[in-house]
Amino acid sequence: MSDEVRPACQDRDPDLWFPKSHSRANDAPAKAICRGCPARAACLQLITAHPSEFGIYAGLSPVERQPGWAPPASNPQLPAAEVAARLRAARKVLADPKLGYQAVAEEFGLTRAVLATTIRILRYAPHLEAGVRDGTVSFSAAAIAAEKANRAA
Ligand code: SF4
Repeated sequence: MSDEVRPACQDRDPDLWFPKSHSRANDAPAKAICRGCPARAACLQLITAHPSEFGIYAGLSPVERQPGWAPPASNPQLPAAEVAARLRAARKVLADPKLGYQAVAEEFGLTRAVLATTIRILRYAPHLEAGVRDGTVSFSAAAIAAEKANRAA
């Protein structure tokens, strides 16, 4: 990054850029600072050349930096009640693995495949749950991230 341009995050609390989990509320302070940063273009170039699964860079969360990510306007979100039902069903199976996927899926009006995908998100990308819940991370983006994490495990 150029020495003449002073990054807006310099001398700020790094925890703002590395929240415990990414959600609209947790990411908002860092994103607001990034929006006015004179080094944003260079920052984006740097993080694109050296990808990281952590933190906010150039105003983008890790999910938003993934290839194929689309903003909510072009990537419609599921209704909040549907997301909540998926997460509740997945939590129920994780709390009691003896429960059959099929029975729990039927109880919550889901397909087995959707339930299995939600369980993978909670297992392999738990840091994205808050974002999925508040709509800042699409279910499909979280599913892709979980799949990648699963393969890398
Ligand atoms: S755009 Fe990059 S350099 Fe600027 S404040 Fe955000 S993270 Fe820091």
